[in-house]
Amino acid sequence: MDTIILQNPIDMHIHLRQDSMLEAVLPYSARHFSALLAMPNLNPPLMDIEAILAYKKEIMRITQIDSEKNGLKGDHFVPLIALYIHDNLTIEMLKQAHLAGVKILKLYPKGATTNAENGVSDVLCPHLLTLLEKAQKLNMILSIHGESAGFSMDREKEFLEVFSELAKTFPKLTIIIEHLSDRHSLECIHKYENLYATITLHHMLLTLDDVIGGKLNPFMFCKPVVKTPADRDAILQAALSGDSKISFGSDSAPHTIQAKLEGAAGIFSAPILLEALCTLFAKHNKLENLPQFLSLNAQKIYDIKLPFTKQITLKKDSFSFGESIESKLGNIAVFMGKSSLDYRVHEIEIL
Ligand SMILES: [Zn+2]
Repeated sequence: MDTIILQNPIDMHIHLRQDSMLEAVLPYSARHFSALLAMPNLNPPLMDIEAILAYKKEIMRITQIDSEKNGLKGDHFVPLIALYIHDNLTIEMLKQAHLAGVKILKLYPKGATTNAENGVSDVLCPHLLTLLEKAQKLNMILSIHGESAGFSMDREKEFLEVFSELAKTFPKLTIIIEHLSDRHSLECIHKYENLYATITLHHMLLTLDDVIGGKLNPFMFCKPVVKTPADRDAILQAALSGDSKISFGSDSAPHTIQAKLEGAAGIFSAPILLEALCTLFAKHNKLENLPQFLSLNAQKIYDIKLPFTKQITLKKDSFSFGESIESKLGNIAVFMGKSSLDYRVHEIEIL
């Protein structure tokens, strides 16, 4: 197909960071996506509604400056921000967040990834179960970085017990397996009606060999770590099929090149997402399922209602973004920045 028209792309898992890093990375998402779910693992994390509202204000300020530069007028971007679950979160704080329109909770097991030191020490402890009972009543959504503290390749599989337990205990609570990376998790989301998942671009493409199969490549290191070819293939097929239980969540996570060389986990993919997804779906003759994966499933699962339609037209054309972007903290390497992709964004319209 020479022209692809996408409406309201949505990224349900992204790290935008803060301060000068936020300024450097946010415009790539705000231009190409209609909505996104920003992760709260900042330093300090977004642990109450005041912190979330201040972050949202900053996101809107930066978006507005960029939109004016790019001639994108009016409402065209909705940042959703998840509330960070921590041991001191109270029912009252949950209610306040809900009242202010926050409906997604993010759970990190303590220490599981970047800035997860304030995460939950025991996922099934009585205090957390009480909070989740309330979250279920309020119709909130629980997104989980689901990894045990076990052997790195088995962490997600080991955590499926917790997902099963939560799905059974709270049958009306929508629960999301974030950045699904293990093929066994696909069976699990189909077993429970209230269990869903997000999938990243890099877990659709990479295996552990891309990290350690040749010369060590820290730029392909992320959490959860990319796994076997069987896992990668199952994840790719699930995304390509437009499976109604799966939304796109890039988990784009910027670190400076220096930090990556020192071993920081995270892959920064925001600048090339639409071009790369079109290239990948076209290569597998599955373009007809891209709207489900990239927009419609998320709208349904998270009950997202957008008051506008952002329409992105991509044309067949060789496109290479470039290997990095600049930030005040140092350059940030772009995933697939050196690859030659088959589509280029041609026009962005707000209908
Ligand atoms: Zn993440």
